[in-house]
Amino acid sequence: MLRTGIRAFSAIRTRPALRSFTSSRCIRSQLNSLDIFTEEETMLREAVRRFATDVVGPKVREMDENEQMDPAVIQGLFEQGLMGVETSAEHGGAESSFTSAIIVIEELAKIDPSVSVLCDVHNTLVNTIFRKYGTKEQQDKWLPLLAQSKLGSFCLSEPASGSDAFALQTRARKEGDLWILNGSKMWITNSYEAEIFLIFANIDPSKGYKGITCFVAAKDMGIKIAKKEQKLGIRASSTCTLNFDDLKIPAQNVIGGEGQGYKIAIEILNEGRIGIAAQMLGLAQGAFNKAVPYTYERKQFGQAVGTFQGMAFQIAQAAVELETARLLTYNAARRKEEGKSFTKEAAMAKYWSSVVAQRVSGQAIEWAGGVGFTRETGIEKFWRDSKIGAIYEGTSNIQLQTIAKFIQKEYS
Ligand SMILES: Cc1cc2nc3c(=O)[nH]c(=O)nc-3n(C[C@H](O)[C@H](O)[C@H](O)COP(=O)(O)OP(=O)(O)OC[C@H]3O[C@@H](n4cnc5c(N)ncnc54)[C@H](O)[C@@H]3O)c2cc1C
Repeated sequence: MLRTGIRAFSAIRTRPALRSFTSSRCIRSQLNSLDIFTEEETMLREAVRRFATDVVGPKVREMDENEQMDPAVIQGLFEQGLMGVETSAEHGGAESSFTSAIIVIEELAKIDPSVSVLCDVHNTLVNTIFRKYGTKEQQDKWLPLLAQSKLGSFCLSEPASGSDAFALQTRARKEGDLWILNGSKMWITNSYEAEIFLIFANIDPSKGYKGITCFVAAKDMGIKIAKKEQKLGIRASSTCTLNFDDLKIPAQNVIGGEGQGYKIAIEILNEGRIGIAAQMLGLAQGAFNKAVPYTYERKQFGQAVGTFQGMAFQIAQAAVELETARLLTYNAARRKEEGKSFTKEAAMAKYWSSVVAQRVSGQAIEWAGGVGFTRETGIEKFWRDSKIGAIYEGTSNIQLQTIAKFIQKEYS
């Protein structure tokens, strides 16, 4: 059962939302290290930690084994106010900061990276597109639904276009007051449970990527799920192929203007990558938190295994790697929040956090020995879940390509 007493934003909401956000910004300008958080952020972290531990924790294994998200978890995220972190209070959201969204994603991933990515895609991609590019009418219509009850998904990738996302083949043609969409999308997170879909389609292939346009569609307009993937990790997070056969979308459902889809996708994925960095950071910390205490309990040769130098140094090394991922992630988040350039920093954070997630969760299995290899401890799940960090929202090669472009610009 969900505990209403731990509603993540309830304490924060006792103060006027706008003023507390403004004051946290003022405090932030005086901060000089990346592990200092505002009172609001610290309270939020504590509340999400309790929700994740008490509500999500007991369901993690069952959801993974069944490859199904428990609807009560999704409902709980809405009830906690975690599905509209940056959405204005006027639209039913928590009206909090981007860093707050990052904290939510990180804390959820410490317990279950599947729940974390559900919340991440919904907040950092879907809500943000409406907040940044939606008209007032679109915001008034869709943001309250997304903050309170309806899950969103972001539909860009297709069977033949992944890293080369703008080679997408889904087409939209206009007939009167309607856009008619045909094509299919692949790998769409949340799509099994989602009711609101942001779909990228080309309205004029002769213009190349400048024909790409973003549309919003509700499930009941006729979106069909063709296939639900069976995956290595984040198995409770749904990933589906969607087919559009003459999907009719009202003309007013274009987001950000015709031909603006590529710009929206680029800008939003730059931000979204900080979310995935936070997911991977939380995942690595979650594996560390499970395995390290065990090494001080488990005795071999008359002493705790974690105290052998060979083990202690590995644990220390992992702690350093975790710290580097944390600093990169929060640095990128704060740069974004402060209106500074953050594309290179976001790519670095996403790339490195996914490396650290794989390394730390892999080692955590070994630190726990045989029990680490069983499904009972949940450590092996973190390792399975970690692989996705190097793939979605731009593979590791794509992140390195972005970083390399910045270096070349700077040095040539
Ligand atoms: C679980 C899951 C959830 C996802 N969720 C979503 C979602 O919600 N919405 C959405 O739109 N998409 C989603 N995706 C799609 C995801 O973003 C793509 O899988 C990803 O961008 C990679 O595309 P691809 O799978 O086609 O791989 P490809 O692009 O075919 O890449 C294959 C390999 O080639 C490498 N490669 C490709 N191009 C280059 C290059 N120029 N230089 C060097 N190496 C290169 C890649 O790094 C990779 O190693 C999801 C994917 C998965 C697996």
